[in-house]
Amino acid sequence: MQLDDPTLLRSEAYIDGKWQAAQHGKRFDVLNPADASRIASVADLGAADTNRAILAAERAQREWRERPAKVRSQLLRRWFDLIVANQEDLARLMTAEQGKALAEARLEISYAASFIEWFAEEAKRLYGDVIPGSEDRRLVVIKQPVGVVAAITPWNFPSAMITRKAGPALAAGCTVVLKPAAETPLSALALAALAERAGLPAGVFNIVTGSDAPAIGDTLTASPVVRKLTFTGSTAVGKHLLAASASTVKKVSMELGGNAPVIVFASADIDAAVAGAIASRYRNAGQTCICANRLLVQDSIYAEFVEKFTYAAGQLRVGPGQDENSQMGPMIDKGAMDAVDAMVREAVAEGATITTGGAALDKLGDSFYAPTVLTGVSERMRIYHQEVFGPVAPVLPFSDEAEAITMANDTEYGLAAYIYSNDHGQIWRVSEAIEYGMVGVNEVGITAETIPFGGMKESGLGREGSKYGIDDYVEVKYICMGGI
Ligand code: ADP
Repeated sequence: MQLDDPTLLRSEAYIDGKWQAAQHGKRFDVLNPADASRIASVADLGAADTNRAILAAERAQREWRERPAKVRSQLLRRWFDLIVANQEDLARLMTAEQGKALAEARLEISYAASFIEWFAEEAKRLYGDVIPGSEDRRLVVIKQPVGVVAAITPWNFPSAMITRKAGPALAAGCTVVLKPAAETPLSALALAALAERAGLPAGVFNIVTGSDAPAIGDTLTASPVVRKLTFTGSTAVGKHLLAASASTVKKVSMELGGNAPVIVFASADIDAAVAGAIASRYRNAGQTCICANRLLVQDSIYAEFVEKFTYAAGQLRVGPGQDENSQMGPMIDKGAMDAVDAMVREAVAEGATITTGGAALDKLGDSFYAPTVLTGVSERMRIYHQEVFGPVAPVLPFSDEAEAITMANDTEYGLAAYIYSNDHGQIWRVSEAIEYGMVGVNEVGITAETIPFGGMKESGLGREGSKYGIDDYVEVKYICMGGI
């Protein structure tokens, strides 16, 4: 992999402002999902190393929280500028370790940078309140950083999930110990290299790389020093971390799985709905938590939609992310691909029909899967209820608005949902009736640093980004001033 600035490729962990190997010298390999070649051998940290990072963050906290908000803001702004200036290298690194198409990686880097810019600005606006008191007392509310924050992030968005947490945490005056996914530590380390260059003080932002997620996770959750845990990943791991955080009553933010419906009503612009559903389903090889997971289409336009959608899915260019021509890269690894393939096989055995795809693309490599469309899917099938973390789209018909709402809500998840309709009354009714934290109407590109990202039900707790995103990183302290 060619980088303009080779010093962005780091393989040691970053603790207390120093690049460090694991105490016991262990390392793990980072592989390119397109061809399984080794990109780097990275420090494989364990519990003792994690504790060192927590202590470094605790020491750094005392000074960082005292810095004027404007100074924290300026440092974050400098970090933002450096991320933007190094966008191409960061995108190359990401594509190499994660597999996504280079164009998508570039977009993710600007998305990731936008959180640092946004929260650099928000740092200066953490206002308190004065509450009307009585004749002898004045009531005041101030906001203070929660303290040391542990962050655990996934491989599907190796940079943006980090900045969406680190941005508000650092802006509020917290310090951070971050564990990136073992599949994608290089993007995290490159961000840390730029943070160091921007002048973030030692210990403020620490990266604990490692392949033993439970060892690092248990250390973070057990520590009374860590006052908050913020996690993006699967619902199963999220539930475990939530339970583990109970022993020290940590604050928690959880961005977990989704099972996003795309509801296409008869009044919709079908071509726009097809284009939206394609973009949403096959982005990142179907590996995003807000990906279109179930396409619910009104029966009068079902046949036309299936035909157009199947055609469009079949036209997608699949290939290595590094190839500028590729629209869809490999899945993260062979295991992930096999799991998705197994779900497709199971659905077919139970009566579903593949209208395109439905197989591994062995000629390209070990973890490429064809963009797949399934019809004849029923509510009894696993593929209907479970999040499909891959490029597979089940299309189901519905008869009326009430049935569409029931089907959309028929899941324990509640992250994102999409509606295609040109009936304004219907748009309002359905948006209000579906139990999802985010609703896209005639639009699937719903994310930005300016909006509150988060889910209902088992999709999570808290919101990230926007003016709300910093709330999870502050304590609201009430001060009653008496005897006045
Ligand atoms: P995904 O399906 O995206 O891999 P995971 O929930 O497995 O989702 O992973 C998200 C993050 O959680 C990764 O950084 C992973 O290493 C971490 N993780 C997985 N298991 C645990 C655990 N038991 N404790 C702490 N972190 C974990």
